[in-house]
Amino acid sequence: MTTIEFGEKTLRLSSRLWQWLYDKFLSPHMSPVLFFLDFAVYPPIIVAFLFFGLKNQPILSSVALVASGYIIWTLAEYLVHRFVLHHIPLFSKMHFEHHEESLELIGTPTLMSLFFLTVVVLMPLYYFAGIHIALCSMAGFLTGYISYVWVHFAVHHKGSGGFKFMRKLKRQHAVHHHGTSEYNFGVTTDIWDKIFGTKREKIN
Ligand SMILES: [Zn+2]
Ligand SMILES: [Zn+2]
Repeated sequence: MTTIEFGEKTLRLSSRLWQWLYDKFLSPHMSPVLFFLDFAVYPPIIVAFLFFGLKNQPILSSVALVASGYIIWTLAEYLVHRFVLHHIPLFSKMHFEHHEESLELIGTPTLMSLFFLTVVVLMPLYYFAGIHIALCSMAGFLTGYISYVWVHFAVHHKGSGGFKFMRKLKRQHAVHHHGTSEYNFGVTTDIWDKIFGTKREKIN
């Protein structure tokens, strides 16, 4: 019997039914086409957001909005990884598959990321801050997201290419994958791990 908790409610499923549902609809194992779909979908969206966001607007404040969207992404990357992917049932089950099989093509399906980015980030931004702020900051935020998807793929599947910063990112993420995974939740930067005290240089 598998149980999934939603607040105070508990859903009980027989192991076989749960396994079937999970394999059929939720398993994060992906074909190469689905895995790399993000790189076909997000760059045109970012270009469109920049085009319409910067149109007829003061350039300096618009660039500042794009930059702040990128910086806010790096914080979101840390918080979502630390608190959602490691602690919320279902998301953690999907994420732990990546921890166990880090060389498999396991990622967030594009439809799922599009849904959350639209509903949780873009729509509230548009509602509370208006179209200009929403488009510019979202262009930065999505640039951060697609950078994260690439860096996370690269630290597992590629060499450092002789780049010192890439060696550092690979080492930093290897520490996260070791043991109980309590450290180094940032993938593209270690700044938030340093701020929140979860940075470790080495596997002890
Ligand atoms: Zn993790
Ligand atoms: Zn990883």
